[in-house]
Amino acid sequence: MPYTAAKDRYTKIPYKRCGKSGIKLPIISLGLWHNFGDVDVYENSRKMLLTAFDNGITHFDLANNYGPSPGSAEETFGKVMEKDLKPYRDHLIISSKAGYWMWDGPYGEWGSRKYLISSCDQSLKRMGLDYVDIFYHHRPDYETPLEESMMALDQIVRSGKALYAGISNYPADRTAEAAKIMRELGTPLLIHQPKYSMFERWIEPELISTLASVGMGAIVFSPLAQGLLTDKYIDGIPDNSRAAKSSGFLQVDEITEERINKVKALKEIAAERGQSIAQLAISWVLRHDEVTSALIGASKVEHVLELIRVQDKLEFTEDELIKIDEILK
Ligand code: NDP
Repeated sequence: MPYTAAKDRYTKIPYKRCGKSGIKLPIISLGLWHNFGDVDVYENSRKMLLTAFDNGITHFDLANNYGPSPGSAEETFGKVMEKDLKPYRDHLIISSKAGYWMWDGPYGEWGSRKYLISSCDQSLKRMGLDYVDIFYHHRPDYETPLEESMMALDQIVRSGKALYAGISNYPADRTAEAAKIMRELGTPLLIHQPKYSMFERWIEPELISTLASVGMGAIVFSPLAQGLLTDKYIDGIPDNSRAAKSSGFLQVDEITEERINKVKALKEIAAERGQSIAQLAISWVLRHDEVTSALIGASKVEHVLELIRVQDKLEFTEDELIKIDEILK
C-alpha cells in the first residue's frame, strides 16, 4: 500500500518559531542517531518515521556518522524518503551534520572547508536529496580558523545544498563569535544543537542568553539522557535497551544508584502532573522560550506516541520547578 500522510497531522503538535527566523519547528523532533542504522530492523525504523510525521513531527535530524555503520542512518532515511515521503519533501525539515570522524585521513573529521563541503555532498547522495534544510557544524574545532568553518557553511547554503546553517556543541563564547561571522557573511545561523536534560544543565548559565541575544533558536538533544529519564532503568537494565546494546552510547556505569533515586523522586512529581517521567523531562526542557524543540530518540513507535502528548501539560508552577531543582541538586 502506498503511504499517505494523516490529513490531521498539523493539529497534533504545536510549532514554535526558531529564534528570529522564518522557520517554525515542531516542539518535538525525531533524531536518527540510534535505531536507524543497518544493524536495525528497517521496517521498525520506517514505522517510527511515518508515525512521527503522521503526528505532526516535520523535523528529522541526521548526521553523516549516524548508524552504525556510519552513514547507514542517512541511507535508511533515503529509502523511506524514496518510498514514502517523497511527495512530502516540502513539508519536511531534514538536517545533517559534519564534525565527528567519518572517514580516514586528515580530511574526514573536524571543521575544515574541505571536510564540511565534501561530507555534505556525501550526505545528500546517501539520502537521495538535492538539499538539506539545515546543515550543521557538529562540534567546535579549535585548530581550524572559525572563519574557515563558517565560510564553508555559508558556501553550502549559497550553493543550494542547504537552506539554513547551524552549529552544535559550541560553547557560548564561540557561539557568539560564529553568529557574528555568519551575520556578516549574510547567512545568519538559524539554530544551535546542544545537549540538555535534567541531568545535563550546562546551557543554563550562559548559552541560553547568548542564543537569545543573537536571535538563534535551540534544539536540545538527548532530553531523556538517552533513556535514563524514563522508568526503563528503575529495576535494572532491560534487554534491548540502549545500555544493553554493544552499539549503544549509554554506558552501564552512567546508570548510578544516585541517578535512579532521582528518577524515582521525579516519578512522583510526574504522577502528580498526570505525566510519565519521560513526558515530564521533555516538558521541562521546553520551558525556556529559547528552546524551540526537544530532539528525541526512540526505539519503537510507542515512544513517539507517548512523547507527542507532552503538549497536554507544558506549563510548570513555581513550586514544581523548585521541587525539581531540589531533586536534581
Ligand atoms: P533521548 O534522550 O530522547 O533518548 C532516546 C532513548 O530514550 C530511546 O532510544 C529509548 O531508549 C528511550 N526512550 C525514548 N522514549 C521513551 C519512552 N517514552 N519510554 C521509555 N524510553 C524511551 O535522545 P537521544 O540520545 O536518542 O538523542 C536524540 C537525538 O539527538 C539523536 O537521534 C540525534 O539526532 C541528536 N543528537 C545529537 C548530538 C550532537 O552532538 N549534536 C549527539 C547525540 C544526539 P531505548 O533505545 O533504550 O529504548
